[in-house]
Amino acid sequence: MKTIDSYDFKNKKALVRVDFNVPLDEHFNVTDDTRIRAAIPTLKKILNGGGSVIIMSHLGRPKNLPEDKFSLRHIVAPLSKLLGADVKFSKDCIGAATKELCAALKPGEAILLENLRFHMEETKGAESFAKELASLGDVYVNDAFGTAHRAHASTTIIAQFFPNDKMFGYCMSAELESIDNLMTKAQKPFTAILGGAKVSGKIAIIENLMDKVDNLIIGGGMSYTFIQAQGGKVGSSLVEADRIETALGVIEAAKKKGVKLYIPTDTVIADAFSNDANKKTCAINEIPDGWLGLDIGPETENEFTKVIESSNAILWNGPMGVFEMSNFEHGTKVVADAIVKATARGAYSLVGGGDSVAAINKYNLADKVSYVSTGGGAMLEYIEGKELPGVKAIQEGVEKIVK
Ligand code: AMP
Repeated sequence: MKTIDSYDFKNKKALVRVDFNVPLDEHFNVTDDTRIRAAIPTLKKILNGGGSVIIMSHLGRPKNLPEDKFSLRHIVAPLSKLLGADVKFSKDCIGAATKELCAALKPGEAILLENLRFHMEETKGAESFAKELASLGDVYVNDAFGTAHRAHASTTIIAQFFPNDKMFGYCMSAELESIDNLMTKAQKPFTAILGGAKVSGKIAIIENLMDKVDNLIIGGGMSYTFIQAQGGKVGSSLVEADRIETALGVIEAAKKKGVKLYIPTDTVIADAFSNDANKKTCAINEIPDGWLGLDIGPETENEFTKVIESSNAILWNGPMGVFEMSNFEHGTKVVADAIVKATARGAYSLVGGGDSVAAINKYNLADKVSYVSTGGGAMLEYIEGKELPGVKAIQEGVEKIVK
């Protein structure tokens, strides 16, 4: 497989799929440029190697029609600044005008194409659309891990047109490497911390982790389903009634496989789902009627901290409570701190999934853990053991060569 480090980009036009799906404010200013920054090393490598770059991305979820609020033109200025070079812009991602602009591109120059999702063929994975995109460049580089679980035209289908000239960008390789390392070579004890709202969203990942981890910590909204499954009283806490059996299955499987399962023993409860609600702490299986659990309690915090701090490999996905509300963020912050402490001692820590990343950023701890995955859904699917179409398209030989 070719890599971005071994490839000779001299006089080549590189089609680079990036993930510039960034948040914008009402004046179209980028409010978090993490994803743009993540693509810079790949773009610079190609430009410095004498190539030019044709940058492709999606932004938001337009309904298949151009909408200014989803235009990638808003990204040109911040991208130019971060890249240290003027980036040109094409008002469409295909068509005659785009072709002309790309054909005129000289070595060292960069152009950003308009939002791929202004064409519904992108998400449909249309081959003809992928072929048109492919005709713009000589080599395909996929650096968009966040969309690697989608078989879209620009993330997957396009690769077949570059059987000998396709590769991952730096951001994508780093994501895959960090997850692969953790899933195959984790030092023991390996602890997975899973939180967030629902059991249903995390069950596949729990099942796949069960064969790999020594400790499994369950927190957040999904813990109340486990408590109810064991006969506890959870008041009005979030419970998935149809997942009671699933929770019991996880408890059983952990026993069988020798995985230590840690479920909260106490919880911070509130009399309403609001930051201003009355709150108190109680045993997690004795929540009074009319109250709901919104965070882990102090006894649980201590227990989780002990386990995390003595781990050598850590995976964290999902908050321990409603961390968006300041009165219910303590448990999430304590867990983040424990991960940071373990990392400082030499443990490998991977934090991923939208809300844990938001939490780690909220506490300014992103640079104190080993790796923060930008992947979200893609990361979860990869850890679940699923094959990501965007990854497979690069790694595999091509069945159909159309070019
Ligand atoms: P997920 O996307 O499944 O990782 O869920 C993240 C969301 O779960 C966050 O927005 C949290 O506010 C929410 N959450 C965490 N703990 C609780 C809880 N005890 N009750 C309700 N929602 C929760």
